[in-house]
Amino acid sequence: MAVASGIAGAARLEVDLGAIARNWRQLADRAAPARCGAPVKADAYGLGAAKVVPALARAGCRDFFFAHPGEALAVRDLAPGVRLYALHGPTAAVDEMAARGVVPTLNTLDQVAVWRDAAARAGRRLPATLQVDTGMNRLGLEPADFERLAREPARLDGLDLLLVFSHLACADIPGHPLNAAQLAAFRRLRALFPAVPAALANSSGIFLGPEYSFDLVRPGAALYGINPLTGAPNPMEPVVRLVAEVIQVRRVDAPASVGYGAEHAVTGPSRVATIAVGYADGYPRSLGNGRGQALVDGERVPVIGRVSMDLITLDVSSLAEHRVQPGTEAILLGPEIDPDLVGTAAGTIGYEILTRLGPRYRRVYVEDTAGAAPAR
Ligand SMILES: *Cc1c(COP(=O)(O)O)cnc(C)c1O
Repeated sequence: MAVASGIAGAARLEVDLGAIARNWRQLADRAAPARCGAPVKADAYGLGAAKVVPALARAGCRDFFFAHPGEALAVRDLAPGVRLYALHGPTAAVDEMAARGVVPTLNTLDQVAVWRDAAARAGRRLPATLQVDTGMNRLGLEPADFERLAREPARLDGLDLLLVFSHLACADIPGHPLNAAQLAAFRRLRALFPAVPAALANSSGIFLGPEYSFDLVRPGAALYGINPLTGAPNPMEPVVRLVAEVIQVRRVDAPASVGYGAEHAVTGPSRVATIAVGYADGYPRSLGNGRGQALVDGERVPVIGRVSMDLITLDVSSLAEHRVQPGTEAILLGPEIDPDLVGTAAGTIGYEILTRLGPRYRRVYVEDTAGAAPAR
C-alpha cells in the first residue's frame, strides 16, 4: 500500500488498483476480439482517475472515456500515448483539447461544426468520435442528423473518425425490449460509416451477448466492482474497502435515545460505538435508523439513530466489551458490505455510493503487483 491523501483522523478508503486491472482483463477477455476501453468519468467513479488511468494503461487499456473536457485534460500528462475521450463533446477548452490530444464525442451538428472549425484553426486533421442516440433520448446525434452527416461528408472535413457509438438505456435488464430495439437501430446507423469502428456496450451490455460488443466496449461500473448482472452473483472482484476506527464506545440504558431527533429509542442495556464518518463524507443520510450496517470484528452491526454530518453510531450490544474499543476498526464498505448492497439499502445504486465517496477519506492505493500487459 502507498500514497495516502485526505484528512488525518478520517476513515481510510482502500482502492485496489490490481483488482481494477484484473476486472478490466476479465471484461476484455469476455468482449474479445472487441477492444476494451475504460470509462473514468467522475474521477474514475469516485476512486481517483489520477491513479486508475495509469494503472489501467499499464494493464493494456488504450481508450479512456471522461465526461467533461477538463476531466481528460487533468490527467493528460499522467497517461501519454493513450486515447482520452470527452463524452460531452467540445463544450469547453476547445483549442486546448485539440492541442493536447483530447478527443471529443460529437453529439450535435453544432458540435461537429465547432470541432471542424477547431481543425481549421489548428491547421491539421483532428480525431473525433460520433455518438448517435438510438433510444435513450439523452445525449448524442439524432438519427436523422447522423444520416445527414453520412450524406454530407463535407461537414466532417478535417476530422478523422475514431469511433461511432451509442449507449444502452436498459442493459441491466436483459429481457427489456429496448435492448434489441437499440441494437437493431445501431446496426443500421453504424453501417452508414462502415470503415469506422463501432461501440455500444457498457458494463451490463457486455453480458447481453457477443452481438452487443462490436469493435470496442465501454465498461465503467464493473471495473470498480459493481455487479453488471441483475439478480445473479457478481463476477467482478471487489475493489474498495472503507474502514473507520471507533472513536468512542458508551453504555446506554433505557430509557434513553441516540442521536439527533432522539429517533432511536434504547429499550435495554446497550452499547453504542461512534465512528467518524457522516453524510459530509458521502455516507447517505438515508442509512440511519437501522438501514445501514458495518462489520465490526467480523460481525454485522446496524447503524442506529440519524446519520450526522461527521459521525454515525452503531449498536454494538451484541459484541463482548473487549471486542469493541476506541481504535477498533469498523468496515463500512468491503466485500461483505459491497457498494451494490449499500446503494440498495440507501434507496439508490452502487454507482452513486462510489461517486460520492468524500474528499476527507485517507485514500490508500493498493498497487497492481502484476507486470505490464501488452496493449490491446
Ligand atoms: C458512463 C458511461 C458508460 C459506462 O457505463 P457503466 O454502466 O458504468 O458500465 C459507457 N458509455 C457511456 C456513454 C457512459 O456515459
